[in-house]
Amino acid sequence: MIGEHELGAAGPTPPLSRLSRYLSEQSPLPTVALQGATHVVSYLNPAFARLVGKDRRDLVGRSFAEVVPEGPENGCLALLDRVFRTGAPENLAEQEHRQREPGPVYWSYAVWAILGEGDLPAGVMVQVTDSTETAVYRQRAAAVNEALLVSATRQHELVEEAESLSTRLRAAVRSRDHFLAVLSHELRNPLAAMSGAVHLLKLAGTEPAAAERSRGMMERQLKQMVRLVDDLLDISRIATGKLEIRRERVDLAAVLRDAVEASRPLIDRLGHELTVALPPDPLPLDADPTRLAQVFLNLLNNAAKYSDPGGHIRLSAARDGTEAVVHVRDTGIGIPAVHLPHVFEVFVQVDTHWQRAQGGLGIGLSLVKEFVALHGGRIEAHSEGLGKGSEFVVRLPAAVEAPAPEAPAAAAEEARGPQRRVLVVDDNGDAAESLAQVLGIMGHEVRTAHDGEAGVAAAAEFRPDVVLMDLGMPKVDGYEAARRIRAEPWGRAPYLVALTGWGADDDRRRVHTAGFDRHLVKPVALDALTELLAALDPAPPRH
Ligand code: ADP
Repeated sequence: MIGEHELGAAGPTPPLSRLSRYLSEQSPLPTVALQGATHVVSYLNPAFARLVGKDRRDLVGRSFAEVVPEGPENGCLALLDRVFRTGAPENLAEQEHRQREPGPVYWSYAVWAILGEGDLPAGVMVQVTDSTETAVYRQRAAAVNEALLVSATRQHELVEEAESLSTRLRAAVRSRDHFLAVLSHELRNPLAAMSGAVHLLKLAGTEPAAAERSRGMMERQLKQMVRLVDDLLDISRIATGKLEIRRERVDLAAVLRDAVEASRPLIDRLGHELTVALPPDPLPLDADPTRLAQVFLNLLNNAAKYSDPGGHIRLSAARDGTEAVVHVRDTGIGIPAVHLPHVFEVFVQVDTHWQRAQGGLGIGLSLVKEFVALHGGRIEAHSEGLGKGSEFVVRLPAAVEAPAPEAPAAAAEEARGPQRRVLVVDDNGDAAESLAQVLGIMGHEVRTAHDGEAGVAAAAEFRPDVVLMDLGMPKVDGYEAARRIRAEPWGRAPYLVALTGWGADDDRRRVHTAGFDRHLVKPVALDALTELLAALDPAPPRH
């Protein structure tokens, strides 16, 4: 211990006992003795002078706070006060100091009291260790730890995301596999029935009843296949964002009547009773009547398919404020609660219902939902569970004004139009001949050609009003044949219609550039053909 008389001395070497002076002067640990409550420097060893970078003479007699300016978070002065007050030694680690050199400087302190008269503290002794290196390492380690923690958390999140993705992917692959199995099954059925009908035709020869039966069978199966393929095309249009609707002012009741008419054969075949409650007043919508009828046809067909024979189906529609609301309710097998949220997903079929799907691929309701959404509406499915029936509720925005008055009957009659000269060009002989026969029955004069070159020659000779031209043909394809026709002096007159097996979306521009006026998807729907031929002017429109 250093006595009071030893503390007050000024000058570079205060009067310490030889041993303690030796110890202190030679010690590599910076040490300073502070006097009184204001901590005035009374002694410092050379190591301390080196630490603060000042001459010892300049430091003695100044307060510690002056000598060593503290960083904002530094607790050293408070520590000196405490030790001076209590007399109990204390340590304080890694306190930041404001220093001239770049970067922060950290000191650790060991402080103990210097006892004076009556063993009361007369000052404090401070031993300083420069702990900058450890502090910086510690901070870096903390930062690294923090970063590791963050990356571990992120890694965990990524693993979870990857797991959920792979679960979803597996589910998608499973439903796609299931879909392919159902699709093959559904395509094989009509094909088997059609080849049966062809056999029957061969065997029956000219027997009219058998021929009529085979024809009916083929027509039904063909319709089924066309419907499947149309649905698939719609799904692919949805997937590529190319599905469009053509809006016009329609009355909801008319759309519902179309749907009922189309679903009637299935409903009757299964012996269901159908109740229809339509609103008394017109309920105008700005909608695509074909797509909307498809929505309700799908819902009615499902109600019929998923009900035991002799069930009840109720179709009702009403206005609810600015919306038209349509309910399709059945007393059928119902939908378990777990499946309800998923019935609108593509390829989803409730396992226990699969046997009843009857030509369904699990895409009908997803199409229904898309069509309703494209009209700005929404659809919900309700069911109390298995055996409790189901209800589908469609809400659509109603049109603001009343629907346009219908065209008078005489005008509609006139719209059917006159007889046309039609040239059909298709390398598929059967397709060309069947289309030609249909056109012939409709009262038009028809020629066929089976490749592009023959098509151009036939057009030159026959001078048709309309050319229905397949696009994909060997050697001279439909595009080239159209260009050659347009290049002829008479070639601007015919109305050129392109026929293709694919949706019009990708080919539309090419078809237009080649000189076609219209584009139709094969197999050409009878309605579309009738409409097209009826709508042509006596002098058909040209570019
Ligand atoms: P599907 O071609 O299988 O009929 P949908 O997409 O139309 O496909 O329907 C999806 C599934 O929703 C059906 O397989 C069936 O399990 C269930 N479902 C649809 N409508 C009904 C209904 N009215 N009653 C019970 N289940 C239904």
